[in-house]
Amino acid sequence: MPENFIGGSWVAAELGGRREIRCPADGSLVAEIDESTSVDTEAAIAAAREAFDHGPWSTTSARERGDLLLRVADLLQRDKAEMARMESLDTGKRLVESEIDIDDVTSVFRHFGRVADSEGGRVVDTGMPSVVSRVVREPVGVCGLITPWNYPLLQVSWKVAPALAAGCTFVLKPSELSPTTAIHLMKLLDEAGLPAGVGNLVLGDGPNAGAPLSEDPRVDLVSFTGGLGTGKRIMAAASGTVKKVALELGGKNPNIVFADADRATALDMAMTAVFLHSGQVCSAGARLVVEESIAEEFVGALVERAREIRLGGPFDEKAETGALISQGHLDKVTAYVEAGVAEGAKVLVGGKRATEGELANGYFFEPTILGGVRSGMSVVRDESFGPVLTVETFTDEDDAVRIANDSIYGLAGAVWTQDAGKGQRVAARMRMGTVWINDYHPYVAQAEWGGYKQSGIGRELGQAGLEEYLETKHVWHNIAPAPSGWFGGGSA
Ligand code: NAD
Repeated sequence: MPENFIGGSWVAAELGGRREIRCPADGSLVAEIDESTSVDTEAAIAAAREAFDHGPWSTTSARERGDLLLRVADLLQRDKAEMARMESLDTGKRLVESEIDIDDVTSVFRHFGRVADSEGGRVVDTGMPSVVSRVVREPVGVCGLITPWNYPLLQVSWKVAPALAAGCTFVLKPSELSPTTAIHLMKLLDEAGLPAGVGNLVLGDGPNAGAPLSEDPRVDLVSFTGGLGTGKRIMAAASGTVKKVALELGGKNPNIVFADADRATALDMAMTAVFLHSGQVCSAGARLVVEESIAEEFVGALVERAREIRLGGPFDEKAETGALISQGHLDKVTAYVEAGVAEGAKVLVGGKRATEGELANGYFFEPTILGGVRSGMSVVRDESFGPVLTVETFTDEDDAVRIANDSIYGLAGAVWTQDAGKGQRVAARMRMGTVWINDYHPYVAQAEWGGYKQSGIGRELGQAGLEEYLETKHVWHNIAPAPSGWFGGGSA
């Protein structure tokens, strides 16, 4: 069966391209899927445009749209085991993490299913009794949705669910490295009754299958999650037709630990912050910013724990974290660590590819901690997106805030202290879209997610995540029209 879904039908890529998907943990073949080109994406855009302009979706009641999303949430739970397995095979992620991801995807569909009819617009008091003035919300139109490989279906859900709730139609281009759950989602949307052409899927790489979504004048909005460089290219391409642009980009997130923190919890969560999913998390706490007085003891304990982390494949129940996504990504992480060392950083633990036993068949990298770093080093400034923690120390609150904010990124960060006032003060000064106090990584679909600075534009999730997909229109209705008298009017 072909895997592109265009205008309500499963169709093969026009030029017949195919791509192999292999599990990064052992190189085994997971699937062979369509590899599209701009021809396929243009056909999908045409279908989405037709469905928006002439189909029923954009004018169905918001509640009907919300109810469809709630049905999809139930279907996701029905197929949870199968989808979690697919996600793990594509990404090498531990099965238990993929199961959590499918639950999170379900929560996203439930959230936007519930709030679909919450944006009713408002009536404006013009001071004129003869005028009814309403501000109404309407769907933006055709949306190009482009997503990364690290949380494949979750990132898709953050876009697809609000786009549908708002009444938009879409063309989805998931990552070419991990597309299989997106294919399954389209089956579920179809089963739930989504009209033909409202949701379209094209599989393939960015430059060929993805690029038309930011260039084509028939697309009204492009929502992208991925790397900073790609985001810049998409923003530039979208400027040609002044599309609305939503960008969720990278991060180089600080995890600030004060001496008065609950040390045991801060230590445990500093590990989770950076080593979860082998650091392939946009909000990974990859910069430890620790108070000088406890640095030696705290970092020493971290190093001991990091040394014990067990790496393994997605179905190894004892594994604590898994492989990197590809050879290219492994090379990139290796290069960042080597560059850091060449500039004077000291490897406290890890620092290289892990090749013991079966790990040699996959793209595993040892959990790594680097000391002796300076803020100018690329391993501190750039997103390596691997299991690599750098350590910087601070002397007081101002110093901690200065180091934390010293980044072009502003996605997320955390502060650990038992002094609630200090926690709030520091959180207020952190220039990031999400700040955790005494925690790391949790999020809920009801609260906004997104970046300050070069971590992005716009927000996903929460109420703002729905508003991204809504236009605003002012309707002025004069219910007692009369000539103005200007330019001779009214005197005839
Ligand atoms: P990437 O930028 O390489 O690719 C992302 C997507 O863009 C893929 O589907 C790719 O095919 C597509 N693409 C590439 N070039 C394109 C082009 N010219 N036109 C259109 N589409 C194009 O990113 P990645 O390696 O897949 O993902 C990792 C990045 O994603 C990291 O930087 C991470 O921080 C970021 N990320 C951010 C968030 C967030 O919420 N801010 C969440 C997850 C991942």
